Parts: sequence; C-alpha cells; structure tokens
Amino acid sequence: MNDKTINHIEVKSPLSWDEYFMLQAMIASFRSKDPSTKVGSVFVDSNNHQITMGYNGFIAGINESELPWGKENTVGPADQKYGYVVHAEANAILHAKGDLTGSRAYVTLFPCNECAKLIASKKVSEVIYLSDKHQDKDHTIIAKKIFDLVGIKYRQLEVTPKLLENLNQHLAGQLSEI
Ligand SMILES: [Zn+2]
Repeated sequence: MNDKTINHIEVKSPLSWDEYFMLQAMIASFRSKDPSTKVGSVFVDSNNHQITMGYNGFIAGINESELPWGKENTVGPADQKYGYVVHAEANAILHAKGDLTGSRAYVTLFPCNECAKLIASKKVSEVIYLSDKHQDKDHTIIAKKIFDLVGIKYRQLEVTPKLLENLNQHLAGQLSEI
C-alpha cells in the first residue's frame, strides 16, 4: 500500500505573528545598555516582514564614555541620562530603510509622547505593546491622546508563561551545546 498523504500532517506554527515579533522586540531590548529600563521595538509591514528595529541607547556614534547612564536627580539634567538617550521607537524610525506607512509597531513598553509624535507622523497603523507600567504618567496619557486623534490602534499583548518557558528551554539548550 502506498499512501502518498502519509507525510501530509496538519501542523500549526507554535508562535503567532504577534508573539514572534514581540519576542524580537524583547531580544532587541536586551541590547540596551540602560541599567534601569531596557526597551525594544520592531516595525513590521502588512506582509509580516520586519522593516526596522531599535532599542534605547545613546546617540549613534557619540563618545559614550563621556555620558551618564544614571538618573539620579540630585544633579542637574546635563549629568542625567535622559538628555542623551534615543528611545527604542525613535531609533527604529531613524534607521528604517523602508516606508513605515501602514506598518505595525511592536514595543516592549508603551511609547512616550515624543515617540508617539514620530509614530503618528510616519502613519503607523497599530501599536502592540507588552508593558503599560507608566500608564498614569503624563507622557503615556498624551501618547494615547495622539494615537486616538490620528486613529492609530493600540492593544496589549500578553506573552504566556508557556511561551517564555519554551524560550528559556531553547536558550538553555543552545547554551549547553556550546
Ligand atoms: Zn519614547
């Protein structure tokens, strides 16, 4: 008997596109040197192809040894990190090689209003975020107002413990093979 359908097993990707790109945004965030807040972002077109990605860091090419990573506010703004850090979304937009119109942005933290201005100006269609821990802060409230006014949708993605467990197992397996 020769059953040609024997290998035609119905399979489904264990990762949704949302999970796939959020994991990429998380991995981008791991590149950040910021000791307190590591943020990553990935912009994706309607064919689920990545256009650009970024993480929060100092201005590209600057002499980083001259700049402070601390946020202690007993010293002036010139000696705090905030004045020098480019946010993950801003970096992704700055370094994008393709048009972002209609794209989806995956971010590990809800964008601030400064990044929301850039996202809205680039006509991004949707923002998918992981954490909204600054939801009560003015910069988040303003960012949501900007998105609402220009019609950018936003929704929170819940990454399941199962997914993180799989990722952990994968990383552990890779490391043990080295
Ligand atoms: Zn920002």
